[in-house]
Amino acid sequence: MIRIRGLHKSFDGLEVLKGIDLAVERGEVVCVIGPSGSGKSTLLRCVNLLEEPTSGSVTVGGAEVTDPDVDIDRVRRRIGMVFQAFNLFPHLTALENLTIAQRRVLRRDRAEAVRIGRDTLRRVGLTDKETAYPAQLSGGQQQRVAIARALAMDPELMLFDEPTSALDPELVGDVLAVMRALADEGMTMLVVTHEMSFAREVADRVVFMDDGVIVEEGGPEQVVAAPRHPRTRAFLTRVL
Ligand code: ATP
Ligand code: MG
Repeated sequence: MIRIRGLHKSFDGLEVLKGIDLAVERGEVVCVIGPSGSGKSTLLRCVNLLEEPTSGSVTVGGAEVTDPDVDIDRVRRRIGMVFQAFNLFPHLTALENLTIAQRRVLRRDRAEAVRIGRDTLRRVGLTDKETAYPAQLSGGQQQRVAIARALAMDPELMLFDEPTSALDPELVGDVLAVMRALADEGMTMLVVTHEMSFAREVADRVVFMDDGVIVEEGGPEQVVAAPRHPRTRAFLTRVL
């Protein structure tokens, strides 16, 4: 589903990604862990070309996003992205936040967009909040609306960048439960997270990044529970 080869990214001379090779298969859940500044967000943002790679190639479902002739909007339509900040439209209700892109981007008519919007709010456990505005929702509820908004677009793949790190601890569980259910349904997911229990229990594979390179990758039972590399061990003793 995602193939990343020899990916380099520099910002004005600062090399942030130093040759990343990574594949995510259909239906796979891959968690990316690593210290602040190691390049995790930049890696994720290169997948849907929110950042333009300096060199290397990225393909998503067979389409090479790094090809200058690619129809990037078409590729992006297949990718749902959820950030740390929820980025909901504050002047729209939960349901309206879900229908607007369906109507504008996918050209669904109002009735269909509303039906799918309601179905999707139900999937994230927010049936009773469809008329609420973002300011009337808790952080965890807002993040679940943001996830629902991405899901309503029928993505083939979901990217998550620390979706729970802005939340109060007691709100994290509901968001992780939604992500876990999505993984169980077979969604392809690339997830940057500091939630080691989520990585351990849900990830098919865990990737540890440090200083722009993948230092270690493998099953969670290896990378999280029995890391081989000293840098992985040092990181895990800090976060666990
Ligand atoms: P965190 O865990 O704090 O989110 P991260 O692993 O996601 O960190 P990135 O956000 O990918 O790290 O940043 C990697 C490096 O690239 C950092 O040194 C950052 O300052 C730099 N960087 C990221 N985006 C830009 C940008 N748009 N312009 C210049 N430098 C950037
Ligand atoms: Mg980041």
